[in-house]
Amino acid sequence: MAVNRLYQQDPYLKETVTDVLACEPAEQGWALLLRDTIFHAKGGGQPSDGGLVDGQPLLDLIERGEEILHVVAERPARTEGVRLALDFDRRFDLMQQHTGQHILSTVIENLFDSDTSIFRCEERINQIDIAKPLSEEQLREAERETNRIIRQGLPVRSFCIRPEEMAQYQTKMRLPIAPHEVIQLVEIEDFDLIGCGGTHVARTDEVWSLKILHAKDVSDQKTAKGAMRLYFVCGGRAEQDYHVKNRAFYKLSALLGGEPEDLPQQVEALKQRSDDMAARLRLLEERLLAFEAADLLERGRAVGGVKLAAALLEDRDMRELRALAEEITKRGNAVVLLASEKGAELPVVMAQSKGATGLKAGDWLQDLLGRLVGKGGGGALFAQGTFAASAEAVEAVRRRFEEVGALLDR
Ligand SMILES: [Zn+2]
Repeated sequence: MAVNRLYQQDPYLKETVTDVLACEPAEQGWALLLRDTIFHAKGGGQPSDGGLVDGQPLLDLIERGEEILHVVAERPARTEGVRLALDFDRRFDLMQQHTGQHILSTVIENLFDSDTSIFRCEERINQIDIAKPLSEEQLREAERETNRIIRQGLPVRSFCIRPEEMAQYQTKMRLPIAPHEVIQLVEIEDFDLIGCGGTHVARTDEVWSLKILHAKDVSDQKTAKGAMRLYFVCGGRAEQDYHVKNRAFYKLSALLGGEPEDLPQQVEALKQRSDDMAARLRLLEERLLAFEAADLLERGRAVGGVKLAAALLEDRDMRELRALAEEITKRGNAVVLLASEKGAELPVVMAQSKGATGLKAGDWLQDLLGRLVGKGGGGALFAQGTFAASAEAVEAVRRRFEEVGALLDR
């Protein structure tokens, strides 16, 4: 049996008393069929309302044909005279977003002949997909015109018609709506008339304001139904968004010590300095590495016709050890054994110049993999392992370096 949707006549109705017609078990508890409802179930881009059913929080609202299932945790103690209470703050926020979307979509159609295909009212930011992409100036113009309509305080009226009456109304269904036996039309006086099952404010000035936050080209996305996706907020959300961004803006400009309007240039300059410093740092690291490699090779022990450069270093990560080993093996006919405690890790690198020995670096490491907690591996010229750092592990690595040195002596 069709539920009497009281929100269609009066979206400002905060409370009512009704009867439970049926009650069935549901995943989260019990699903109730009510004679009347003040709750709008998710649909047409608008999320579900919240509230209380006889004091119990409403957990979910599910459209089933012309019925709405009201899901609560406990089976209600009574079926007659059940009180419904709407979370009106949430509802009013959704009405602001939804009505703002009607105005924005119509403005974009009127000004730029770009239709809206999808509307999503999310918990924080709303989205619409539009057919044709707009320039930054066009978006600004659409926003300005939308806010002009909002300020005019035009009456917004909802009324229901039967499907066969559709023909006499010069309107269209912009968004899919649930297949009820009646169709709700929403009229913004002298501006817009459209089919929509959602809830709306009574006058456009109750939207307060609309702000387009950003736009994204979605023409290459298969799931998108338009060329451009617009992100926007209305009413209290726009105020909150302005508050958060304004605070961040002043905080950032205070940190950089300039005027707020110079922030983009200041950040650009800061990024340039940071890039320059990163490039300079890379250069210095390379020079230092060459110097360190030469030093380790110089101090290395000549054994079996090669230079053995073995060292336990400090605070070096795997990337640094690899670069150092590569530099040393390039510079001379050498075997390189390097390790370094770095936080909780003990990276180990074992490498040799091409043709330095008839042995394999991977075999030298294998012994450590069997004895310590860690992982790694390698081939003939290069092997690496990362182990859990501890005094015992460092000692095991030091001993292994000696053993490899002894292998070369033979
Ligand atoms: Zn609507």
